[in-house]
Amino acid sequence: MIAYNQPLYRPPAEANSIIIQATLGCSFNKCTFCTMYESKEFVVRPLEEVFLDIDKMATSYGDANKMFLADGDALACDTEHLIKILEYAYNKFPKLRRVSIYASAFNLHDKSLDELKLLKEKGLNLIYYGIESGSYEVLKRIQKPISNQKMCDGLNKAYEAGMKISVTVILGVAGKKYSKLHIEETAKILNQIKITYLSTLQLMLEQHTKQRFIKNFDGEFELLSTKEMLKEQKYFLELLNPMNKVIFRSNHASNSLALAGTLPKDKCRLVDEVSYIIDNYL
Ligand code: SF4
Repeated sequence: MIAYNQPLYRPPAEANSIIIQATLGCSFNKCTFCTMYESKEFVVRPLEEVFLDIDKMATSYGDANKMFLADGDALACDTEHLIKILEYAYNKFPKLRRVSIYASAFNLHDKSLDELKLLKEKGLNLIYYGIESGSYEVLKRIQKPISNQKMCDGLNKAYEAGMKISVTVILGVAGKKYSKLHIEETAKILNQIKITYLSTLQLMLEQHTKQRFIKNFDGEFELLSTKEMLKEQKYFLELLNPMNKVIFRSNHASNSLALAGTLPKDKCRLVDEVSYIIDNYL
């Protein structure tokens, strides 16, 4: 077993994957709702250290077929560096068929199409990407200011490179004032891109970050109630018309209602499920 640099996070779908820390922390580390890596300095780990961890894991779990490269946005590594990790990992794990990674909106945008194609060729098959909101107004206020155009460019490049893309959206992140804008702009961007998986989370703020988070909303931030969160969920689903088949989940620990389906096929059923809970239980 390897000694992970804590805290360590991975997407729920990577529960059974080998986790290798290619980087520590998050290269951006400024989003006001996120405390995951606040205690860590961003570091790209030297290849020798990463290889040593891969060796150790291969000794005990050599039959593993999935690997996740942590921490917060390991796509920030140079492409050459990532390729060396991928080649080493596929060599040490003969049954490996999927390697996934967290990407930030910024470093996905910075990779060229050729770099992403090369990474896909070397076995980087799945990218986890937090859109959070499609509204630039909201993104500025949560200190993740990236334009819709840049988000779409990055995600379209990953799609064109043949990668699967898993996107998360945060319900409630815009508070009451910007709720409608948040949902409408987020659905708009998702209707323009091709992704594989989509999840919604609900905003959860840790006590010590609340002040900083609310300050950027000019002190006007009002948290959504559970009913309002589910109304956002419903409105969001109603507006979604994805260009391709998208597997949708809201099964994170933060979600007050677990939903699962495939869009657009299950859209009406999902909307009905949310409506039923709003009308009968809230
Ligand atoms: S880019 Fe992701 S991991 Fe980094 S601070 Fe923002 S939400 Fe957190």
